[in-house]
Amino acid sequence: GDAKGELLRVEQVLMQFGGLKALNMVDLNIARGTVHGLIGPNGSGKSTMMNVLTGIYKPTAGAVVYAGQPIAGRTPSQIALGGIARTFQNVQLFGEMTALENVLVGLHHSFRATWLDVMLSTPRYRREELAARARAAAILDFIGLAELANEEARNLPYGKQRLLEIGRALALDPRLLLLDEPAAGLTAPDIRELMAIIRKIRDHGITIVLIEHHMDVVMSISDTVTVLDFGQKIAEGTPGKVQSDPRVIDAYLGG
Ligand code: ADP
Ligand code: MG
Repeated sequence: GDAKGELLRVEQVLMQFGGLKALNMVDLNIARGTVHGLIGPNGSGKSTMMNVLTGIYKPTAGAVVYAGQPIAGRTPSQIALGGIARTFQNVQLFGEMTALENVLVGLHHSFRATWLDVMLSTPRYRREELAARARAAAILDFIGLAELANEEARNLPYGKQRLLEIGRALALDPRLLLLDEPAAGLTAPDIRELMAIIRKIRDHGITIVLIEHHMDVVMSISDTVTVLDFGQKIAEGTPGKVQSDPRVIDAYLGG
């Protein structure tokens, strides 16, 4: 057991696509307040795990327990409202909307105004809109994008687009943040900025699952690392332990 307590537990999850077992009886325990790295060669099941955790895929068998509640079978929006936010392996922003508006989209879930409030621009709507804009601005500031608030997302440098995706996920006020290869395609300075922001998010008490194939990034940020290979968990533990595991070395060099 972990003194910090468990936020998420995956039990014997099987995710089958036809004859392919993308996840083959995987167990996973994510401790509160930690960064949990999830690594493995291409096609090993990392993104599939994220899709299972966020309700995009319903596992063929097994259980997902989040904050004590079974969630396998809930819809993606139910799971998001429950506090699990994510970014995608490929950038998914609204390109023609500004950075601020992209974060606002993530905030609208917390609005209580109805469409009629919006149509009539009632005080309730205006109050909520102002509060949401202030919060979106605070999130942009947190991820270092304050100065780019009014730029269209598609015009942002790629590294900033990736940070903006994280900002949009933070707008959900998550307890658990899932990052799918956030450093992919980034330059070395962008990666350093990203790592600082991931640590800052963790320091705010948000638990993070980090899929990443930049080994130096995962190994320096993660408290615990789980290694998948062909849908199976082949190793787990501290970065030091996992890096020296012959099965892991073999999966990467032999794969
Ligand atoms: P990773 O993210 O580790 O590179 P994925 O989880 O994307 O790997 O994929 C694991 C395996 O599952 C791959 O063989 C992939 O082709 C397969 N897979 C993932 N999603 C689907 C799907 N929706 N339908 C069929 N096969 C899928
Ligand atoms: Mg993937």
